[in-house]
Amino acid sequence: MKILVLNCGSSSIKYQLFEMPQNKVLAKGLVQRIGEKQSQALQTLNGFAFKIEEKIADHEQAMRCIEKMLTDPAKGVIASLSEIEACGHRVVHGGEIFTGSVICTEEVVREIENNAELAPLHNPANLTGIRAAEKMFGDIPQVACFDTAFHQSIPQTAYLYALPYEMYEKHKIRRYGFHGTSHRYVARAAAEMLRKHKYSVDLITCHLGNGCSVAAIKGGKSIDTSMGLTPLEGLVMGTRSGDLDPAIIFHLIRKGYKAAELDNILNKKSGLLGISRLSNDVRDLQQKEEAGQTAAGLALEIFAYRIKKYLGAYLAVLNGCDAVVFTGGIGENSSAMRRRILAGLENLGLQVDDNKNMAVIGKTGEINTSGARIKIFVIPTDEEGAIARDTFALASEKAVVV
Ligand code: AMP
Repeated sequence: MKILVLNCGSSSIKYQLFEMPQNKVLAKGLVQRIGEKQSQALQTLNGFAFKIEEKIADHEQAMRCIEKMLTDPAKGVIASLSEIEACGHRVVHGGEIFTGSVICTEEVVREIENNAELAPLHNPANLTGIRAAEKMFGDIPQVACFDTAFHQSIPQTAYLYALPYEMYEKHKIRRYGFHGTSHRYVARAAAEMLRKHKYSVDLITCHLGNGCSVAAIKGGKSIDTSMGLTPLEGLVMGTRSGDLDPAIIFHLIRKGYKAAELDNILNKKSGLLGISRLSNDVRDLQQKEEAGQTAAGLALEIFAYRIKKYLGAYLAVLNGCDAVVFTGGIGENSSAMRRRILAGLENLGLQVDDNKNMAVIGKTGEINTSGARIKIFVIPTDEEGAIARDTFALASEKAVVV
């Protein structure tokens, strides 16, 4: 069964075409700057690139562009769109309704719309993608996979903020958590590496990419995570501050800053970029630190320190665990950052083998010393693959594996 996985942003669509159940990626691509003068679509297949540069007015036209690239007689991979039997969509916010992936019915679409006030930048774009795909593919199953779904098992003790209870009742203010598809994927992979059932592992999963979050997983289920109502809470990220004293915001408002300006500063100008004033990219900062730029080293040190604090907190929440997992662009590729995070945690049972750590870059591996109490795994995430598997299970009317 050929399944198209779509991740729609407000001005971009990322896509991957899968052959299921073999889990084979047939093509992947990205349409960006939708609605701008010069849009761009790029598809890669076995290392060959296929580029279209023209004005792409909206998501519907972007979907036509994807069709053109997938079905191109020379560089495409299918003869016609009718070969695609289901579509899987990444949807950022599922609120308290969705605890797993679902087939998009009108009711599901209405709920995604209702949750748009919790994710005003993402859910409307995700819906645009679902609508454009429905229009183009007609009657095939459209499946929604939510970033928040895996974290719906978090208990009230961990998801409620200590605010007046009406804030939760009236405004749905609570911790939702994000990156759920990634945390779930690496948790299942870690259970296999531990040779344990997926519901009998206790883990701390660290998704460290452009956005960063940690999850505490007990018996295979998420029981706490660092992101909150929005993806701003928790770890230091490329351009997001993560945790801070909320009074800072009122203080800055009294100094004349506007709410929208602060929103932009906390989400786009803080984190590694804000501290270093150099870059949001760990690769750049590592190079600059080596070249003697102390601001780069400081940003990396603060980034690692925040993760260390969460590791300590979640080790307490879980009363120890089977394994700590690193994933995401930074977690998978930066041995230096992993070493920085894990340094000095030996007494908690986390002992890194430096040689193994240096050798595991961009691939799955175990990086703890042989006698260590807690395993440390690096597992490349595969959010699109997980969406394809959920879509395949639902479209072929099997129960979704959660
Ligand atoms: P992601 O969002 O998972 O694609 O992660 C993107 C981030 O991963 C980039 O902004 C970089 O900071 C980081 N990254 C990717 N490759 C490396 C690498 N080799 N070393 C350090 N950081 C990396």
